Amino acid sequence: MSGGPESNKVVIIGGGPGGYESALVAAQLGADVTVVDTDGLGGSAVLTDCVPSKTLIATAELMTDVSGAAELGVNFHDHQGDAATTISVDLARVNTRVKQLAADQSADIARRLAKEDVEVVRGYGRLDGPGRVVVGDQSIDADAILIATGAAPRTLPTAQPDGERILTWEQVYDLTEVPSELIVVGSGVTGAEFASAYLALGIPVTLVSSRDRVLPGEDADASAVLEEVSKRRGMKVLSESRMESVTRSGDVVTVTLTDGRSIQGSHCILALGSIPNTADMGLEEAGVILKEGGFVNVDRVSRTSARGVYSAGDCTGVLMLASVAAMQGRIAMWHFLGDTVHPLDLKKVSSNVFTAPEIATVGWTQQAVDSGEMNAEVVMLPLSGNPRAKMQGVRDGFVKLLCRPGTGIVVGGVVVGPRASELIHPVSIAVAESLTADQLAQAFTVYPSMSGSIAEAARRLHRV
Ligand SMILES: Cc1cc2nc3c(=O)[nH]c(=O)nc-3n(C[C@H](O)[C@H](O)[C@H](O)COP(=O)(O)OP(=O)(O)OC[C@H]3O[C@@H](n4cnc5c(N)ncnc54)[C@H](O)[C@@H]3O)c2cc1C
Repeated sequence: MSGGPESNKVVIIGGGPGGYESALVAAQLGADVTVVDTDGLGGSAVLTDCVPSKTLIATAELMTDVSGAAELGVNFHDHQGDAATTISVDLARVNTRVKQLAADQSADIARRLAKEDVEVVRGYGRLDGPGRVVVGDQSIDADAILIATGAAPRTLPTAQPDGERILTWEQVYDLTEVPSELIVVGSGVTGAEFASAYLALGIPVTLVSSRDRVLPGEDADASAVLEEVSKRRGMKVLSESRMESVTRSGDVVTVTLTDGRSIQGSHCILALGSIPNTADMGLEEAGVILKEGGFVNVDRVSRTSARGVYSAGDCTGVLMLASVAAMQGRIAMWHFLGDTVHPLDLKKVSSNVFTAPEIATVGWTQQAVDSGEMNAEVVMLPLSGNPRAKMQGVRDGFVKLLCRPGTGIVVGGVVVGPRASELIHPVSIAVAESLTADQLAQAFTVYPSMSGSIAEAARRLHRV
């Protein structure tokens, strides 16, 4: 429980996963904790980004499953029982559910913090030197400060959202009518997820990518599978197509490319990356050095250049994931409050792209092997040979494992397929605990199961 006259005073600016998870750790270790937040607990992760998008994708997943129902012998009939119905999505209901779920999740976090005696101050926090936070006319002295202010969608002067037809990812849940033709600009994780989700909801989608392939930062085999499946399902993918501007005239949105081509649709989602929320906060005046692009410079225990000031999450630009934000925040508190602390190790982070199929990764990459940065043996096994996959009508996807040649220690992996986000966990454990491929292969898997392919890939890495 937090508090006590002798306890350390910790002030956290930002109530997202970087902020609220560190508040829980600080309270557990006996600190007196205040969280300053503008928008509501949970931050962008819960209110506009991660939680809402994954809730939308839950409906998209159901639609993807339903689209494969006929192969498994399931027919849909209308109420007269004589004709196949068309299945449609009630986007207004989906969005109401998304927003309610996000609000409930935020309220859950608020209750949890209240139970741990964490004080929450609503408002915009600024530093007044390295030991004081100012919120409106309130001034709070602190022994340690954590900056966890997150990031916001990047827009361009030539591509300004209007909240109706030209949208950032934060604005899509206000749509009440179904777009007749959606253009998604940006083929990173966010763009790929929205393009895949809306396609599954039955909306014609064009994905505009400035690079030669979608998901340029992910495993090349994985992005090839995703692109192939998406095109097969009807998505138009424009690669090497850089957006110049997005304009609206009445109900029509026009995306103009730098090569002069243009595409028209009813709506456009801008997925152009994020900018950190670090401006106008008195950071540099307090001695906090910012990197290029305005991100806070931190070391592996989340310290900034100012004594007693830590930073976590998207505002550091280290790896923009809720799980990493939370871990950076916990590490900061463990470090400041003198508990055991392991510096952040990005090679142990598992992450997932929630497209159809999903793409989950952990550890070293094939790209690092190909470039000579890492020496590893690689095995890749298509899911199409897996008995459970056959039963479920799954043809697309694979398991890839990377292990060190001499020791056989597993150093990375990729899973592409339905629920890859769940399937990656045994590989994550192997990477985190430096297990060998033989050890991974030794553990029983259920027959039949998708995870059988992970054990099979590990067996193929056995060397005598
Ligand atoms: C569409 C989308 C989907 C995503 N999906 C996933 C996913 O599936 N899994 C995953 O791990 N990650 C996902 N992410 C990334 C994840 O949302 C972020 O990494 C996470 O939100 C970072 O948490 P944070 O605590 O740093 O910041 P945030 O969640 O952004 O929270 C920061 C909070 O601080 C507030 N704030 C800012 N400035 C101040 C100030 N001066 N004073 C007071 N309050 C302030 C902000 O308003 C905000 O509420 C997704 C991102 C996007 C855009």
